[in-house]
Amino acid sequence: MKDRDMRKEIAVIGGGAAGMMAAIQAAYAGAAVTIYERNDRVGKKILSTGNGKCNFSNEIMNADCYYGGGALFVDRIYESFGVDETKAFFDSLGMRIKDKNGYLYPASEQAATVLDVLRYEVQRLGIRCRMGCLVSAVRSEKSGNRFVVETDAKEHGKHAYDAVILACGGRAAPRTGSDGSGYALAKQFGHGIIPAVPALTALRCEESFLKQVAGVRCDARLTLYIDAEKVSEVQGELQLTDYGISGIPVFQFSRLAAYALREKRHTTVTIDFMPDAAAENGNFWNQRWHRQREQGMEQFVTGIVNKKVGLLLLKLAGIREAERACEIDAVRREKLKRLFRSLEVTVRETNSFDQAQVCAGGIDFREVTKDLQSVRAPGLFFAGEILDIDGICGGYNLQWAWSSGSVAGRAAAGITLREK
Ligand SMILES: Cc1cc2nc3c(=O)[nH]c(=O)nc-3n(C[C@H](O)[C@H](O)[C@H](O)COP(=O)(O)OP(=O)(O)OC[C@H]3O[C@@H](n4cnc5c(N)ncnc54)[C@H](O)[C@@H]3O)c2cc1C
Repeated sequence: MKDRDMRKEIAVIGGGAAGMMAAIQAAYAGAAVTIYERNDRVGKKILSTGNGKCNFSNEIMNADCYYGGGALFVDRIYESFGVDETKAFFDSLGMRIKDKNGYLYPASEQAATVLDVLRYEVQRLGIRCRMGCLVSAVRSEKSGNRFVVETDAKEHGKHAYDAVILACGGRAAPRTGSDGSGYALAKQFGHGIIPAVPALTALRCEESFLKQVAGVRCDARLTLYIDAEKVSEVQGELQLTDYGISGIPVFQFSRLAAYALREKRHTTVTIDFMPDAAAENGNFWNQRWHRQREQGMEQFVTGIVNKKVGLLLLKLAGIREAERACEIDAVRREKLKRLFRSLEVTVRETNSFDQAQVCAGGIDFREVTKDLQSVRAPGLFFAGEILDIDGICGGYNLQWAWSSGSVAGRAAAGITLREK
């Protein structure tokens, strides 16, 4: 072991997933590391991931699972530290892994396990943790090329470091500590920030009729249109709420909607409630109108999809529940059929950062090297969600935290990515 004073001194700002990984990897590479965390404990957000089970990665991993400027960096970064390295890393810390159709969890199904093993490793490596310590400024030292870290905590004062890694997260779930203050630190060095918007979040819609189906969960295919142009299509479990639409398929394209709404573009979603149905061929409806012609319309729609949805669509088609099927004219029949396959809702806004799982936008990748180092201030690095990258649901955001943390941590300690 080298003498502490001879080692490279690195400050990691933010003790989340990316910050802890960066600190551990920098320490493995021989650096003396200090984590600054504003909360009274590290890794608060990890505890709420994956509904408390922490979906920490995914066997299917490629650049198509990411948005933002960082999507172009993913392949390169993951070549250095990808899913296999992440699994080996957690295995080396004693964590068994559970694979659910490619989605990776700790076998304990407790997010706390992921945090615990990271905390034990941080402790074992002698990484200093300055808790309850909001970093208010990072400055280049006038003499020499070190960085001074300033905090709001008097007892910690100012300290100088050879390198600093900003791993402050974005603006999502600010109750866990990530409120965008990292952007201000990067701006002190002249870094540009791609505007941050909530992602992996629900969409609030104009239609008050959604109240009638609040609480329904059903399989659906959703298509997002921006200014009437189709931009995304996702199938999965839709959750209808009194204010709009939620669930994983909505989360997957919410960041596209968020940027469109920011630009005041017209944003709509059509819902196909029968994505896999034989309804594709007209026979389904022809047979039903014929076979069930004597039935009242409430009974007629029962059994097609969720009943609350069926009754809402009847109403929207201008059909009363008490009417008999044989009394419904061709125009209303066609309208009902169309509504089952494409109910349109208009998106007014996304849910706020408070309810968002991640944040799209962040540090502009055009000012970052392949080792996630600032081109404006060599010695300053970035890791995690603070950068302009966001993944889809399924373990992709934590994988980015592990991979970017690893690359930034090692590079800050002097181990750079190999040239190709
Ligand atoms: C409810 C929820 C569920 C999720 N589920 C999953 C999932 O199952 N799988 C998945 O892959 N992703 C999931 N995510 C996303 C994932 O948790 C994040 O992308 C990831 O944790 C980001 O890690 P990070 O270290 O970059 O940022 P963060 O985890 O946000 O950590 C940043 C840290 O920096 C600290 N900090 C900020 N500013 C300062 C400052 N100025 N001084 C000192 N400290 C500071 C903060 O307090 C915080 O601890 C989920 C997110 C949420 C909110």
